[in-house]
Amino acid sequence: MTEQLIIAGERRDAAEGATFTVTEPGTGKPLEEVAKAGPVDVDLALTAATKAFDDGRGAWARTSGTERGRVLLRVSQLIREREDLLATAEARGAGHPIGDARWEVGAAAGTFEYYAGAANKHFGSVVPVQDAGLDLVLREPVGPVSLIVPWNFPLLIACWKLAPALACGNPVILKPASLTPLTALLLGDILVDAGVPADQVYVLPGPGGVIGDALTSDPRTAKISFTGETTTGAAILKNSADHIARVSLELGGKSAAIVFADANVAKAALDAPMSVFGNAGQDCCARSRILVERPVYEEFLETFEAAVRAIKVGDPLSPETEMGPLISTGQRQTSLDYIGIGSGEGARLLSGGEIPDDDGFFLTPAVLADVDNSMRLAREEIFGPVASILPFDTEEEAIAISNDSDYGLSGSLWTGSATRAIRVAKSLRTGTLSVNTNKSVRFEAPFGGYKKSGLGRELGMGAMDAYTEVKNVFFSEED
Ligand code: NDP
Repeated sequence: MTEQLIIAGERRDAAEGATFTVTEPGTGKPLEEVAKAGPVDVDLALTAATKAFDDGRGAWARTSGTERGRVLLRVSQLIREREDLLATAEARGAGHPIGDARWEVGAAAGTFEYYAGAANKHFGSVVPVQDAGLDLVLREPVGPVSLIVPWNFPLLIACWKLAPALACGNPVILKPASLTPLTALLLGDILVDAGVPADQVYVLPGPGGVIGDALTSDPRTAKISFTGETTTGAAILKNSADHIARVSLELGGKSAAIVFADANVAKAALDAPMSVFGNAGQDCCARSRILVERPVYEEFLETFEAAVRAIKVGDPLSPETEMGPLISTGQRQTSLDYIGIGSGEGARLLSGGEIPDDDGFFLTPAVLADVDNSMRLAREEIFGPVASILPFDTEEEAIAISNDSDYGLSGSLWTGSATRAIRVAKSLRTGTLSVNTNKSVRFEAPFGGYKKSGLGRELGMGAMDAYTEVKNVFFSEED
């Protein structure tokens, strides 16, 4: 059975009948055959989505925010009802440990709940202008939006884009990563079952270089929201320039966690492993550079390394598993290459970097100590289970090292001093920062990056701005 794509809410084969095989990272074996969209499908989707939006400004666009909110609430309910289906698909298709996958399903539903509530609370304003009359600022949906997502958190990142885009009244064209299209298609079904009008819903699995390129260079795409690699983001920005599409980009990261000697060092060291090795390190927010103040450096290393060795790596479907496989052999090889590069640059490999005797794409979490920020290991995004530990001597040095990066997505700082926390937080050039925790990304708050980590912000009420146009209307009161 082939998983069909979705055009105007309907499952169907790709126009040219092509399919591709999705591999299960936990077993290394074929998992599913999926319809492979091509340029004809992109054209069909954009034609239908444009018509759905333009005809009388689109039924969904004209539906009240309150009613759109009700539909989104049903989406969240269906996501919760289909938790087993979605979590199993994410565990098998993306290699996420099943416990994590269940948490992600809850967070996906929570995202829809949040934007269900936002749908009738995002509106324009009245401006007190000097001319006699009434000056209104209206918020309107932008039109067909192309939502392009990566393979690392396929369900969650899709929901971060779908929920605000739909809350604002836009038709949505979702392009999942070719490695992980399954939960995107299940989500498409949920949208339609929940009552989003069929002509607003499109899910197109297929090669990014072909259909991603076609979607982003087509002038009928009013807005592009992309999450993925910085180089792909740059290519999309160039594509969009010709037709001045609205663009949001969430890109790579090389985030730092800074541990000061006055912090609760044991807590920081026990919390750090999953901030790097969660999702096998395939996390744009991974704190892959851990900066530790020299007086507590050895103490931190000892606790951290012991905790890393205790991480249970294995079958994503087992409830005990804490770290699953990497998404592909290629991604695993990249990690192995960087471990070799780091060791060659003088970093000290403390543990990990081994391939277990298994068919899946597993790799044990690797810890490299005595890393210098000039090393490639510390500068380039690896997107795998490789942690770099860097010692530092002063607050100024920690800030300088942290900021000395092309990226600026996430980060943490650990300290017992509130004044230091304020000082350092203000000095760091990063979009999302956590103090005395490594948790980041909350759907109620803005998320995005400085520098090469992106453009614009997702989540929070700000996302509602990103999916709407502003119209200013002045009514003269002169006869
Ligand atoms: P890619 O940039 O390769 O792919 C992301 C998506 O873009 C996929 O759906 C891909 O399709 C598609 N795509 C590929 N080429 C093009 C193109 N020319 N035009 C339009 N779309 C295209 O990234 P990965 O999937 O490899 O994801 C990993 C990267 O994502 C990491 O660098 C990571 O840091 C970043 N990321 C950033 C996040 C953030 O919020 N800042 C969150 C998660 C990941 P296909 O799969 O078919 O190639």
